[in-house]
Amino acid sequence: MVSFKFCKSRKNLTYIFLCFFLISCTESSNQNGEAVEKKNFSWKLVTTWPKNYPGVGLGPENFAQLVDEMSDGRLKIKVYGNGELIPALEVFDTVSRGTVEMGHGASYYWIGKLPAAQFFTTLPFGLNAQERNAWLHFGGGLELWEKAYEPFNLIPMAGGNTGVQMGGWFNKEINTTEDLKGIRIRMPGLAGEVFTRAGGEAVLMPGSEIFTNLQTGVIDAAEWIGPYNDLTFGFHQVAKYYYYPGWQEPGAMTEFIFNKEAFDELPDDLKAIARTAARAVNQNMMDEYTARNNQALVSLIEDHNVILKKFPDEVLFELEKISNEVLEEFVSEDEFAKEIYKSILDFKAGVSNYHKISEQAIYELR
Ligand code: CA
Repeated sequence: MVSFKFCKSRKNLTYIFLCFFLISCTESSNQNGEAVEKKNFSWKLVTTWPKNYPGVGLGPENFAQLVDEMSDGRLKIKVYGNGELIPALEVFDTVSRGTVEMGHGASYYWIGKLPAAQFFTTLPFGLNAQERNAWLHFGGGLELWEKAYEPFNLIPMAGGNTGVQMGGWFNKEINTTEDLKGIRIRMPGLAGEVFTRAGGEAVLMPGSEIFTNLQTGVIDAAEWIGPYNDLTFGFHQVAKYYYYPGWQEPGAMTEFIFNKEAFDELPDDLKAIARTAARAVNQNMMDEYTARNNQALVSLIEDHNVILKKFPDEVLFELEKISNEVLEEFVSEDEFAKEIYKSILDFKAGVSNYHKISEQAIYELR
């Protein structure tokens, strides 16, 4: 600011130029001890979440703070919540066009533009968070995701995982598959298609619209995330039964998307900082959900009299059967989607073998 005032008082173009140069660059030394100027960057990041929303919405906020600290202020990122700059469901296109440099959301919101996008959030009855991270970073998943987003001028990175979600909020009991008939539910992605084929009707809307739509009867049921987030939206005030497990999202991964030109413009150290901060946020979000979901569930049951219910096995088996049919049909129309689906199935089969005698064996023992 001092530099700015100095510029104004002199009203001299040379000084103004010098001031801007000083504001936008940081001086440091190279390996030979020579002074080099490092360019500063100021980015915008749009999200599909309400501003500062717990869990998923804090991912981009934490990312911006980490990047600021790690880059010594050379990459500043301002985070905008749903509706502050653009509506939630325009994040993909806005970053793709380069109107803003970054976005945070969930890939399955973009299934209408890119069918294969579904595979990079979650799949009904698919990988859990631990397995998804492993597939992404050690099983070829990230390479497939980068290939899928390349035509859209986007670079994707994992942006945090919610863990296994809840099955959703209902106002009537689900005792048989017949009870799903006629239920209009908020449920994104292919799981929504599965629910529709099971006799219900799935609709897509951002989380911020769920409460009012449940209250006014526009929808009869809704899945969102899990206890930690569902409590903050107050769904217990407009729905009676809270069903588990979240068959539709057994480990939903959120995403960071970068406009390719903006990312390519960064020097290598800032690129590394961005990648490292994204990895840190991805893990941090999972840790937060693991710690807070149980606390919130206790509050929902004890303070708000929510009735917790498990979907009957009959219903889960039917949903799984339909899921497999929907997925097979879905990939039969798209070679690239088929390649990604096969990659996930192969990985799941392999890792499940070991998880049966490791993770699962320990869960059953404790
Ligand atoms: Ca969900």
